[in-house]
Amino acid sequence: MIGKGTKLYSIFKMKCPRCHEGDFYKGHPYQFSTMGEVKEKCDKCGLKYSLEPSFYHGSYYVTYALGVALFVAIWVLKIFFFPEASPGALLIAILISLVILSPLMYALSKIIWINFFVKYEKNIFKKKNVTSQHDSTVKK
Ligand SMILES: [Zn+2]
Repeated sequence: MIGKGTKLYSIFKMKCPRCHEGDFYKGHPYQFSTMGEVKEKCDKCGLKYSLEPSFYHGSYYVTYALGVALFVAIWVLKIFFFPEASPGALLIAILISLVILSPLMYALSKIIWINFFVKYEKNIFKKKNVTSQHDSTVKK
């Protein structure tokens, strides 16, 4: 299972990479009005999701890698299950999969990208002396 505290939990649940509590996206990846829009900061721990200006431009590399992985997966499926299928059918299968999965791949690429740079902190709420998880202000 993908347990809390692992990068995979943050990626597949689309949660804050630092506290694994707050949502990373404004909406669902397939909700057109907020597609791929990252929240400004975590509602729970206050982590700013944009670590620097144009931070998510690097996630294009991740999108590319996901696209290649999808291509390879469909190609392997074709070899095992449809060995007589033509190259044109393979191309159409890849294009349809890309169109259907691109919102999800776009969303995954950003959360994977930020997980390269931010580590999970188990005791983040104790460290910041925050009594309520909804209170993101640091008390001094
Ligand atoms: Zn957080």
